[in-house]
Amino acid sequence: MRKQIVAGNWKMNKNLQEGIALAKAINEYFTNKPAEKADVILCTPFIHLSSMAGIINAKRLSFGAQNCASEVSGAYTGEVSADMIKSTGAEYVILGHSERRSYYHEDNALLNKKTVLALQTGLKVIFCCGEVKEERVAEKHFDVVKVQLEEGILNLPAEDMKNIVIAYEPVWAIGTGLTATPDQAQEMHNFIRSLVEKHYGKKVANDMTILYGGSCTPSNAKEIISKPDVDGGLIGGAALKAEDFSAIVEAF
Ligand code: PEP
Repeated sequence: MRKQIVAGNWKMNKNLQEGIALAKAINEYFTNKPAEKADVILCTPFIHLSSMAGIINAKRLSFGAQNCASEVSGAYTGEVSADMIKSTGAEYVILGHSERRSYYHEDNALLNKKTVLALQTGLKVIFCCGEVKEERVAEKHFDVVKVQLEEGILNLPAEDMKNIVIAYEPVWAIGTGLTATPDQAQEMHNFIRSLVEKHYGKKVANDMTILYGGSCTPSNAKEIISKPDVDGGLIGGAALKAEDFSAIVEAF
């Protein structure tokens, strides 16, 4: 059975004190709960990572970063390396988020380099893909996602796939209040799984966790994640409130 995951992407929100308070509230919620079906990951800004190790101890709860440098170490002012992230106790890093792709011009080749480095360092990668609105309207969404994945991760050795989670995030649904319909999500997730199968065979494809992201809320999560190829969610805005985030996890 493949892993189900709900990951929160805090983006550039929460100062140190606010982040600690949010992580504590989420940890407390899950500490008092029986083991959840889904693993829960908090992807925080870099400044929170070392605090997370001292806060998060609930079963199935872990934490990660939202980006890492494309180089190992050295004179790269302002960058944070995969090794630095790993040294905090973080288990995951999000790579290829559409905000990194569009505002910081991260292309597939760079993301491939970052992914290789993160995996070599022992981090697991949540690799994002997704089309912009114009591409969906022009019915190019499958082609766009195919290229993002084939150039980003599907050229890596098969054994790396167990440390990769794919997140399908239609860019037009991120932070907009527009969500893909459950059928649109299922159609794309099924396409992604077939693509993984084409490269690595049925077993790797069946084991691949594929998350949906884009305006997930407690009220729409259940319907989307009930689809057979949707294995959880990457949650932005709703991850910033402990109650909303926990309610989405509860949707499992
Ligand atoms: C995201 O940024 O990964 C995301 C899914 O954001 P939101 O839930 O706010 O649309």
